[in-house]
Amino acid sequence: MERTFKLLINGEAVDGASQFDVVNPATAQPFARCPRADAAQLNAAVAAAKAAFPAWAATPIEERAARVEAVAARLQERLSEFASLLTTEQGKPLDQATGEVMGTVFTLRAFTEMRPETRILRDEGGNRIVEHRTPLGVVAAITPWNFPMILAANKIGPALVAGNTMVLKPAPTTPLTSLLLGEIFAELLPPGVINIVCDQNDLGALLTTHPDVAKVAFTGSTATGKKVMASAADGVKRVTLELGGNDAAIVLDDVEPALAAQKVFQGAMYNAGQICVAVKRAYVPEGMYEAFCDEIAQLARDAVVDDGAKQGATVGPVQNAMQFEKVKALIEDARQRGTIVAGGDALDRPGYFIAPTIVRDLDDDAPLVREEQFGPVLPVLKYRDIEEVIARANDSDYGLGGTIWGRDVARATDVAMKIDSGTVWVNQHLAIDPRIPFRGSKQSGLGGELGQAGLHEYTQAHIVNAVELEPSA
Ligand code: NAD
Repeated sequence: MERTFKLLINGEAVDGASQFDVVNPATAQPFARCPRADAAQLNAAVAAAKAAFPAWAATPIEERAARVEAVAARLQERLSEFASLLTTEQGKPLDQATGEVMGTVFTLRAFTEMRPETRILRDEGGNRIVEHRTPLGVVAAITPWNFPMILAANKIGPALVAGNTMVLKPAPTTPLTSLLLGEIFAELLPPGVINIVCDQNDLGALLTTHPDVAKVAFTGSTATGKKVMASAADGVKRVTLELGGNDAAIVLDDVEPALAAQKVFQGAMYNAGQICVAVKRAYVPEGMYEAFCDEIAQLARDAVVDDGAKQGATVGPVQNAMQFEKVKALIEDARQRGTIVAGGDALDRPGYFIAPTIVRDLDDDAPLVREEQFGPVLPVLKYRDIEEVIARANDSDYGLGGTIWGRDVARATDVAMKIDSGTVWVNQHLAIDPRIPFRGSKQSGLGGELGQAGLHEYTQAHIVNAVELEPSA
């Protein structure tokens, strides 16, 4: 029997005002129906979150953290069910989906161990100034389709532990794992603390302009992020924007080409390249360029591109039809400007499959180099000297992540220091840890998530400044 999914509003599992199809990207066929909220249901969700806020904020933090821990534990018990649904709606291979669900558990747990920091700013001469951290109110959490579970957890963990309530709105092409999480929330959290509504890209603006929303926590494209920032202006809402990236991988000349190619390939093609911090441009010294291109092209040809539910698949489909068309267009443009040494085409089968594609001999102004491709295609660029490659890597409106590969770690770290991005990894990639802050520079974001700083973004500094009264005359 086909599984049914419900919205979560005020602790109740409810049908949407209408429904829409959710497509399995490995077949391009619908496999489930998703409830679609209308404006009245969105307003009801915000009202429920608003009504639940005072009691949740007044609940001792140890109890709030214990409830979030209970959610994490229940999710872990249902790991394989969630991983399988994630693969079906998102497309990623089952082992990667399992990793995302475990990462979701780990992220929720990490926040249960953090506490907003209370600081005594002065305590002398009868003057005591204390900075407290108070919750904000209703948080609107808006997530994209590449990591629908973990990117929701990045928001749910800190928001709830800090004492906020939430309306979560997942992306229309990957709503189901969020709705399945709703079953766990309904069981383990007080009504209204989290509400989940689904849309077809039509309720975002209503949510971000809603007068009862105190903060918008958004992960998605830079284009939509700009709209979110503008729409939050009217109510002077707090916003956290985790946006796009165009991360450079810089290979230094003391690494073996085969090893560098293997590392860069993994960083570029995990989740079919649909990661905000995927390697999106690779820069390789000219003396190593031929060897590196040969090695990485071979890795692309060896990848097992298949339905993520099939054992052995290493690269799944692109997540949705729109992204599939966008990536194909970038490849067609790159075919005219450079040399495709592996892949270059969609697979001749149903589903949104693109063969892992490596393009060499492109100029820096090619769209595949300048734009965020967000798919399984990587440009490999040649460089002569370090200062030149640093300048080229930084010549971007984005500044999310980046990786430096080098045997001499001190030298590689020096290069990392000069890359204008929120995070730069040296000799590792995707080392995202919920206890370590994550944030973009330039147009890759505003504010940030994760770590103690990420928890504080769900709070307001509240200064209480007290002195003693002078003795009465
Ligand atoms: P998107 O911007 O199209 O959509 C993201 C979310 O915004 C969806 O839930 C969508 O329904 C919603 N939305 C659409 N219009 C809206 C509006 N006017 N107001 C409010 N919300 C609206 O992004 P996407 O295509 O789903 O995701 C891919 C992008 O996300 C890439 O650019 C990727 O780099 C970025 N991303 C960033 C991070 C990060 O942490 N920095 C992480 C993952 C993905």
